[in-house]
Amino acid sequence: MTRLITYMHAYTQWPGAYCDTKHHSCCYPKTGKPTAEFSIHGLWPNHKDGSWPSNCNPDSVFDRLEISDLMGSLQKNWPSLSCPSSNGFRFWSHEWEKHGTCSESELNQHDYFATALKLKEKVNLLKILKNAEIEPDDGFYSLDSIVKAIEAVTSHAPGMECNKDSAGNSQLYQVYLCVDTSGSEIIECPILPRGRCDSSVQFPKF
Ligand code: AMP
Repeated sequence: MTRLITYMHAYTQWPGAYCDTKHHSCCYPKTGKPTAEFSIHGLWPNHKDGSWPSNCNPDSVFDRLEISDLMGSLQKNWPSLSCPSSNGFRFWSHEWEKHGTCSESELNQHDYFATALKLKEKVNLLKILKNAEIEPDDGFYSLDSIVKAIEAVTSHAPGMECNKDSAGNSQLYQVYLCVDTSGSEIIECPILPRGRCDSSVQFPKF
């Protein structure tokens, strides 16, 4: 029996943390260094217990023609930072095939990408944090203050993920909001794992 998708994680990431980790190098997209903004990682369908399905439909291959109208926006808001430098298609194709195909009954390929872009536009994380005087200046901020600043605007606590730089500092890496299966409403996350963040985290420059 196919298990029901009950909500999704709208994953964004801070490129400064993706690039400043000991685990991998980063390469800017062929279009150049992305703007210093949170960027989209993906929209990930979830089961209620926090587990998630993947690669749900091998027949639904990524088709770049279906999202040609979104190309400019995808390049700006959903840049690929893995190496070697790319034009993003590999990353988008990976996200569609691994995650997007699991919510295909609600969102077709075009809607999957358009919905993630719309959410990013609706919630400007960098602005929210800057308004709370939390800036990407290599400074350390309490995890609690970051969560509270986002929660004050979205009404729901975000999921937080950190990584470690080569000096072992815990850095603000990914933030996810939980959204309903249509991707239009932010909802309370049924489960919020702590995500390997120290109580004080660095917000690296980019
Ligand atoms: P996922 O497979 O969607 O669960 O995400 C994890 C994979 O996405 C890993 O292989 C990461 O290295 C990759 N990844 C995360 N962020 C980016 C990015 N900005 N550009 C390219 N690949 C990424």
